[in-house]
Amino acid sequence: MSKQLADIRHLALDMDGTIYSGGTLFPWTKPFLERMTRLGIGYTFLTNNSSKSARDYLAKLDALDLGVGPDQLFTSGLCMIEYLRSHRPDFKRLYILGTESLRTEFSEQGFTVVGNSADDEPDALIVAFDTALEYADLCMATYWAGQGKPYLATHPDKICPTDLKTVLVDCGAVCDCIESATGRAPDLVLGKPHASMLEGILARHELEPHQLGMVGDRLYTDIAMAEASGAFGVLVLSGEATAADVAACPIPPDLVVPDIGELGNRLADALEKSRRA
Ligand SMILES: [Mg+2]
Repeated sequence: MSKQLADIRHLALDMDGTIYSGGTLFPWTKPFLERMTRLGIGYTFLTNNSSKSARDYLAKLDALDLGVGPDQLFTSGLCMIEYLRSHRPDFKRLYILGTESLRTEFSEQGFTVVGNSADDEPDALIVAFDTALEYADLCMATYWAGQGKPYLATHPDKICPTDLKTVLVDCGAVCDCIESATGRAPDLVLGKPHASMLEGILARHELEPHQLGMVGDRLYTDIAMAEASGAFGVLVLSGEATAADVAACPIPPDLVVPDIGELGNRLADALEKSRRA
């Protein structure tokens, strides 16, 4: 265990339940990040939420007083952009069911975002988390799904966690709606737990999978993805999963800690041990 921890050069950090809860930063988060920097361990924040562009997310992190650079953030929207570039360079014209923020991000990255007309034919349909969902847009997305266009979703989440007394209907539930109308599910769903979320970080930092620690509070996304990509999976109990969930999990995480503060202690101890050895 200590040897595995000492190999870690970079951490992929889930956000909600891991570094903050409902937008309030945990008191141990900033000291933990400062400690990682002192230990020479890099980190990237990871989110399935595709309702904000990377630029808008950076502003949100800035407001929490976390000085984060553009290369320290990876969203499921960016994951889709990188996926299309490397696997489907022929998909240039996209119908995107998503927010203005996300659509702008795609057009700034060189894609043509088509409008709401059957004459404006896309190469593919992308469904994201559209927090300003319009009925006409949902109908158009459903039309292209029904026409057999390649159909990709940014992430599978059906709801977005919130403290508010409402349900934030997310990308996966909108895909279910399209499926109900057309019989078609997405051809591919990126975001956690799809390994492409970590592949982007591995490639960006030229890391071997065992040099990456995936830290999160959900067994079926964060930890499942760590297992799928060979990264070291760290479950924190500061969010969704409980100790009872861990006991019932067929493939347990590599490490379970109460929170990232304790992960910081374990990493520092492991590095100290390997230096002495
Ligand atoms: Mg989480």
